Amino acid sequence: MSDPAVVTAADDLLLRLRHFRSDYFPRHQQRFQDLVAEGQHPKTLFIGCSDSRLVPYLLTGAGPGELFIVRNVGALIPPYDQSHGLHGTMAAIEFAVLSLHVERIVVCGHSHCGAIRTAYEGAPAEAVALTAWLKLIDEALLPVQPCAESMRRTEQRAVVLQLERLMGYPMVRREVEAGALTLHGWHYVIEDGEVHVFDAQQGDFIAASLASNSGTGPYAPYVEHDGQILVD
Ligand SMILES: [Zn+2]
Repeated sequence: MSDPAVVTAADDLLLRLRHFRSDYFPRHQQRFQDLVAEGQHPKTLFIGCSDSRLVPYLLTGAGPGELFIVRNVGALIPPYDQSHGLHGTMAAIEFAVLSLHVERIVVCGHSHCGAIRTAYEGAPAEAVALTAWLKLIDEALLPVQPCAESMRRTEQRAVVLQLERLMGYPMVRREVEAGALTLHGWHYVIEDGEVHVFDAQQGDFIAASLASNSGTGPYAPYVEHDGQILVD
């Protein structure tokens, strides 16, 4: 038997698990135990892209118990339907709104998003689920050659499109209209360390360092600068 305390350098994940238990947990033990005793009451549902460079806890300064998180490729939200399929993202939205009674839903896309790029360039032929999933971006795609500017615009349009789809969820619309829930569209620019928040009144994404709020969701049809209605 080898000594269980000796870990090969290659298994860095095991080292990190031990580090969490020995270093982080003792300093936050009471918080975790309170969250178990009292249950979780997160105020925010965070729907983000799976991209490894997007770290919700760093962006928001949130700790344990503060964010209910759903992540998927592209931070996409399927249209609400009643097909009783295995819809993980839909299930999480229902749970967050109906059981946790969250007060905010954040949809967070980001710069250099591989999902957006793949929506333009196509996925590998074997990736049938990915290909179907990325159709949720179709309406946000621009009829231009992908370049840095069009990618940025598409990433932001995709966020707004998902906010619009959220309003198609009956429980979301009901809570938004009751003033109990707000929707926030964010576009995180990795290289600048800046989140740009969608302001429905201005019809634009505003850098958080300049914005007066963390984003207002679409409560009316969204019209772009050129007058094009993205979703009606
Ligand atoms: Zn992404």
